[in-house]
Amino acid sequence: MSEGAVKKEEKPRKFQAIRGTRDLLPPETSLWNRVEQTAHEVFATFGFGEIRVPIFESTDLFARSIGAETDVVSKEMYTFGGSAEFSERVREGRMEGTLSEMQPEEKISLRPEATASVCRAYIEHNLNQLPQPVKLYYMGPMFRRERPQKGRYRQFYQIGAEVLGGSDAPAIDAEVIEMVMTFFDRLELQGVQLDLNSIGCRECRPKYVELLRAELLKVKDRLGADSQRRIETNPLRVLDSKLESEQGIIATLPHVADHLCEDCTKHYAAVKHQLEMRGVIYRENWRLVRGLDYYMRTTFEITAQGLGSQNAVCGGGRYDGLVELLGGPATKGIGFAIGEDRLILSLQESGKAAVQQGRDVYIAWMGEHARATAIRAAKDLRRAGFSVELPPVELKFGKALGQADKLGAKYALILGDNEVAEGLWTLKTLADGSQAKFTEPDLLEHLRKQKALSS
Ligand code: ATP
Ligand code: MG
Repeated sequence: MSEGAVKKEEKPRKFQAIRGTRDLLPPETSLWNRVEQTAHEVFATFGFGEIRVPIFESTDLFARSIGAETDVVSKEMYTFGGSAEFSERVREGRMEGTLSEMQPEEKISLRPEATASVCRAYIEHNLNQLPQPVKLYYMGPMFRRERPQKGRYRQFYQIGAEVLGGSDAPAIDAEVIEMVMTFFDRLELQGVQLDLNSIGCRECRPKYVELLRAELLKVKDRLGADSQRRIETNPLRVLDSKLESEQGIIATLPHVADHLCEDCTKHYAAVKHQLEMRGVIYRENWRLVRGLDYYMRTTFEITAQGLGSQNAVCGGGRYDGLVELLGGPATKGIGFAIGEDRLILSLQESGKAAVQQGRDVYIAWMGEHARATAIRAAKDLRRAGFSVELPPVELKFGKALGQADKLGAKYALILGDNEVAEGLWTLKTLADGSQAKFTEPDLLEHLRKQKALSS
């Protein structure tokens, strides 16, 4: 027996998707497609173009932008390679060449988010030479090693957008938020709630953080272990705490809005005014901070119904220093990321997940003459945009209709020798069993009219 072959008595292993990942199957994928198609359409109306960035990047890119101390970078990334592993491989003869002949391989990580990659691409392709700002959107899988639960996966999908370059005019912040809200509105997402905050800039935020740290130290004994640790590492994250016992204490802490510098105060007020001009309803939430280090000034989060404790469907904000931090020119930036899995879950929970299912036409053909006609009819109907099921082998009439029913077809097109000879085709409406005869061109016309009526 050759090496690696399965021994007869051994049952072949049944593979399963890795924990925290999942398959998306029809018909659910139609809903995913509808959501993504709507994003393409809505974002295009705001002048955004799609960018596709790689699934993996240098680990350092994420560490520098998101922050080495954040949960995402310190615990959640899937990281590979690096020179240690590379040299081991070479030593074991698992790779051509020698160390001296090849560049040591850089550590790479599966992307946990895409903003860093978009900024890297902006720098790499000199997009600052284009008319500013550059408005980009993306969609695709992200990877974080988190504890899987409802609405939280290790491979999940985001739809996001970034506005890079130009000014930091508050109208840009407001328009980006208006765009997400328009997208959610188009999808009829239910229970949408927009929370808004400003977390200041390089000038005023560090002062506020110090003040917060001092206040937190005074009440340290009454805080849980996580928050106690965060007093040192990231006091802002204490405001994020969901611990019941900490809520009373957090309520007494100083609000960031009272400690913004003059420019940030003005910017925040103008963003709110611009949102009002656009009819966007928001709720100020002084405790809203974000888990990634690069955010400044405007921050926002959008929640929706039906998601339990993982109810955030979108997070975003301004990140003016990020491109510069990655070695590019000083560049303004703002963006958001929507959790597509949660968005879909919410649509499903609230009964807004309807997608067109089943076939338009099932062709019940009988006889070799009819088969040729059926093939032609299928081609014409598909060209006109109808979904058509053409059974590959001849079926008895009753069985064919049964199949048409099971597939959720709207119509059965009946093609037998008589129909072909007469040039009059029978169309059966499966919902009520009614039948009518049509010539070939009339049939197409009839189906078109019916489709227009039902949409
Ligand atoms: P959360 O507070 O829920 O952990 P986050 O602050 O880590 O979210 P961001 O990094 O801002 O989230 O990402 C934006 C959006 O991506 C979130 O609002 C959420 O909808 C979605 N998201 C983040 N992590 C996951 C995950 N592990 N599984 C599914 N969706 C996720
Ligand atoms: Mg998270």
